[in-house]
Amino acid sequence: MNPHLAVSTLGVMEPFRAWTEIDLDALTANLAVVREHAGAATRVMLVVKQDAYGHGAVAIANHAVRCGVGAFGVGTSGEALELRAAGIRLPILVLGTVVEEELPACIRHGVHIGLHTTDRARSLAKLARESGLRARVHLNVDTGMGRLGVPVARAASLLETIHEEEGLELAGVMSHLAPPEGLFDPFAAEQVARFAGVLEEARDADLLGGWVHMANSAGLFTGLRGAEGFGAFDTVRPGIAAYGALPPTLPDADRLEPVLALRTRVVFLKDVPAGTPVGYGSTWRSHRDTRIATLAIGYGHGLPWRLRDGEVLLGGRRAPLVGRLSMDYATVDVGHLPGVEVGDIATLVGRDGNDILSLDDLARAADTIPYEIGCSLGRLPRVHRGGESTLIPAQPPATRAHTPQPGQAVDGARS
Ligand SMILES: *Cc1c(COP(=O)(O)O)cnc(C)c1O
Repeated sequence: MNPHLAVSTLGVMEPFRAWTEIDLDALTANLAVVREHAGAATRVMLVVKQDAYGHGAVAIANHAVRCGVGAFGVGTSGEALELRAAGIRLPILVLGTVVEEELPACIRHGVHIGLHTTDRARSLAKLARESGLRARVHLNVDTGMGRLGVPVARAASLLETIHEEEGLELAGVMSHLAPPEGLFDPFAAEQVARFAGVLEEARDADLLGGWVHMANSAGLFTGLRGAEGFGAFDTVRPGIAAYGALPPTLPDADRLEPVLALRTRVVFLKDVPAGTPVGYGSTWRSHRDTRIATLAIGYGHGLPWRLRDGEVLLGGRRAPLVGRLSMDYATVDVGHLPGVEVGDIATLVGRDGNDILSLDDLARAADTIPYEIGCSLGRLPRVHRGGESTLIPAQPPATRAHTPQPGQAVDGARS
């Protein structure tokens, strides 16, 4: 039986109906592959935004530290402070941008911030000066993502502003790739060329400083790394690869292991004659006499409502989801699987026996991407396993140390 219990809103222990399992040893294995692609001298900034894509940022970050990761990328100052409060002392970058009200906490806790505009540079510098600190910023250059980032043509002048401002320290220069296929898409190479142009101009003007980074997982696994030809890229920012859900079309995707497993339980079994409709809208009807198993998971737990023709594993064997998902329940046809019982554990993502379903499989069946599924499943109770495995830290010493500024909190741990 399911041994997992959670404290319910009523303060009593109740068994999990649906939960995720986070395999920290799979994270270790994936970070070893990431390290192979990055090379020993490159800093790995593990992206843990949105609670580490639903995997639980604190546990992931704590373990990643033991695997030689050199920094973390987050989405908000709150996520950064959560890591600080959990004792993470490595550099943390708010990748995108922050809203004005988040700035003081970022400065106080030494959190690095992505920077895009002169106005923000000025307001950030002023705040930092007032607290007697320096704000660490990464200039974000828009080379084709078209979202955040300073336009290429204005990058040099913003770099000058950063250098002028006493309250600012240039901790990095970054850009972000748009194509999900990384360098397999020629547009990524265009972006790299634009970024290299900015870097060259900055170097010539003696304005370059801090880390230089552009590669997400797709970039890294399609060869965007190192200094060769691209300027001194010394940091990479993988997320999805570390969680083992890189698109299967990318190199080495098959060497990555899913970190997250999604499991639930069979709560009801029903024998139905051929022609029986199942679920809202009666969109599915049994073609034969069969047995329907109801699982205690639905779109209310973070499964996409569009999920149609996915599969689940029961005792290591596949069974198709049938009918529409309900808020709390899903239905599978188990007519071909004798021996399924109420209470059995069903696996929607992860290994069961010799078979495995990936986050990507589930995402495809729902016409979405593994990132979205991971985030949505973040609301489920979580069980961690493994974590004894570590990697010999392969970071060069200079990249592991967090150079303190005079008067600046280094670890920023909550007092
Ligand atoms: C999310 C994110 C990443 C990581 O992307 P993956 O595809 O998960 O590797 C890297 N850089 C930035 C700026 C991001 O927002």
